[in-house]
Amino acid sequence: MRKHIVAANWKMNKTFQEGMALIEDVYKTLDGYKPNCEVLICPPSYFLGAIDKKYCDKLTFGAQDCSEHTSGAYTGEISAPMIASTVAKAVIIGHSERRAYHNEGSEMLAKKVDQALEAGLRPVFCVGEKLDQREDGTYMEVVAKQVKDALFHLSDKDFAKIILAYEPVWAIGTGKTASADQAQEMHANIRKVVAEKYGQEIADNCTILYGGSCKGENAPELFAKPDVDGGLIGGASLEASKFLPIIKAFD
Ligand code: 13P
Repeated sequence: MRKHIVAANWKMNKTFQEGMALIEDVYKTLDGYKPNCEVLICPPSYFLGAIDKKYCDKLTFGAQDCSEHTSGAYTGEISAPMIASTVAKAVIIGHSERRAYHNEGSEMLAKKVDQALEAGLRPVFCVGEKLDQREDGTYMEVVAKQVKDALFHLSDKDFAKIILAYEPVWAIGTGKTASADQAQEMHANIRKVVAEKYGQEIADNCTILYGGSCKGENAPELFAKPDVDGGLIGGASLEASKFLPIIKAFD
């Protein structure tokens, strides 16, 4: 049975004090309630070393990126082993904002995935087409290529640790959500591409999240689709009261 996950990507938001308060708020909203999904919080990396382990009975934590290198003279970078030395158990890799603003391509992302796995972190690997690729009808191939180019060097055992996130770039932060049918169509195709390489069992067990203007109002319809296993949430993860209804969409 594949795992359902609701993940928060805070991006570059919240001061240290605000972030700590938000973790406490999210934790408190889960008081006396057992979510039917894993709740993964990915704050800016510098929070991770300061998060109290007491939160880990209800929440899991992850980073938003890691370096493609293990250590050395890479000013400003944070390595996968550094992330793994905190409460973090996961790391987002290949977010479209990293691809667009930091020029991250498949070759570099494959190295980041290797670093994460080597350090014992679960990669949350993001894929997604741009608006012009949706409109010119190449979106299926574009996304399949992103998956293949950065991940298909992995062994079966390592691929089984990957969480995928489909985030159409045109839906991120725009208020334009992919319809539940559009998400399902893409998720089913990603699963098919994975099955062709790794077999049906690994494909069936692979968690594929949807991200892009996902919120309490649309999460139930999206998560009801057979191949949508949860969400990667930006804006709506920045307040506990907006994040909770998304978690509850799995009830
Ligand atoms: P929004 O939920 O703000 O559209 O962001 C989605 C996203 O990029 C999560 O990684």
